[in-house]
Amino acid sequence: MPFVDLRDFISSLADQGEILRIQTPVDPHYEIAAYIRKASDTDGPALFFEKVKGFDIPVIAGIFASRRRALMALETVQDQVLDKFLKGIQLPLPTKLVQSGACQEVVKTGSDANLHSLPIPTFSDKDGGPYITLGVTISKDPENGTRNASIYRLEVKSKDRLGVLAEGQHLAFQLRKAEAQNKPLEIAIVVGCAPAILFASQWKGPYGIDELTLAGSICGQPIEVVKCKTVDLEVPASAEIVIEGHILPHIREIEGPFGEVSGYMSEASPKPVIVISAITHRHQPIYHAALSGVPTTENHVIRQFPVEATYYAELKGKFPGVSNVHFPSAGAGAYLVVIAMKQYNKYESRNVIAHMLGTTRNKLIVVVDDDVNVFNMEHVMWAITTRCQFDQDVIIFPRLFGSRMDPSALEWGVACGMGIDATRPFGQPFPEVVTVSGVDKVPDLHALLATQRSNKQS
Ligand code: MN
Repeated sequence: MPFVDLRDFISSLADQGEILRIQTPVDPHYEIAAYIRKASDTDGPALFFEKVKGFDIPVIAGIFASRRRALMALETVQDQVLDKFLKGIQLPLPTKLVQSGACQEVVKTGSDANLHSLPIPTFSDKDGGPYITLGVTISKDPENGTRNASIYRLEVKSKDRLGVLAEGQHLAFQLRKAEAQNKPLEIAIVVGCAPAILFASQWKGPYGIDELTLAGSICGQPIEVVKCKTVDLEVPASAEIVIEGHILPHIREIEGPFGEVSGYMSEASPKPVIVISAITHRHQPIYHAALSGVPTTENHVIRQFPVEATYYAELKGKFPGVSNVHFPSAGAGAYLVVIAMKQYNKYESRNVIAHMLGTTRNKLIVVVDDDVNVFNMEHVMWAITTRCQFDQDVIIFPRLFGSRMDPSALEWGVACGMGIDATRPFGQPFPEVVTVSGVDKVPDLHALLATQRSNKQS
């Protein structure tokens, strides 16, 4: 059975010994973030903070501090995760409207809808305030009603006011349309939902495609939604917490700074403002937090599958030899792309580089042969250092439209792209790779060691 809500997944993780329960009270100011940072840096467990100082709502965090747990969330393995996403993209499942949902067991409107009642952490030392970092923000196109769902950083400015960074994203596109009509844009922010919804929300699909339909297809069943209480939107019925509100037209207020996914502080600047109208939640909800910052953090991991699947699908259609795509955390999940392929034609690898540099943000493209494990950067660097002559195999493309978060850009949003063709010279003899046969017949050594240890103890 797929995980249809966050709780299902949490209890499965607990059963598998992947969650550390923290019973001592923790401070949402920096202390929760420090725990997640440590978990991220040490391939540590997910963290369930039972007692958060000043709040009666527990916090789950660090779930996606490892790619392994991200695979567990989708009940899949590395070799199959691409297929799972591709099937989802090809066969989206419409949402199913239901009459009631756990996410509205408690409804707070008016002055009862208070953001300060939620244990929203302050993460990095220089952040401008507490940030909602895993809020799936749902909104509709003011002209044609198409739904959008994605995660944007949300700064708590007061008990009923949030700042939002949506620039260059689908939400900003909808806000522009609303502002052209001089109207507010209604939104609902979902905190704590089925893992499939989180991953689907990070899919870089074309505008107009409802990410919740992709989530449904990843789950293998439609996402059940309920009508919101104060806005004309629908939200996943089994969510932990939902914040309803609207973005004020034409209003910009200072938001930031925030420790971003690039690994650098992004400066404070004027951004759109959300005024909230309701908070609904389960009885005894769980708040879901995630850390952003220097790789690897959850923010990098959560983007990997959807972004990898998006580009894999795109490349495969043009270059059938492409067998894998990885966005390593080292590139902040955006700037570095490693692609494995079997070349059918001379220099095809360079066409792949050209194609990838033609899409925004991808700054360094590495193409390797299909015998290289793109998820192992040691192998990737081995290919680069042993199959490459840099005067021939490095391509530099100056002045592209790039990431607005790249701190090295000489001009804001302008990037220089680079491609490394680390494939063996096409059609020419090349030394054979050393192999050892029978490795697949050797039993799981970690499991054997664990058994040996427990035998010694008893
Ligand atoms: Mn979208």
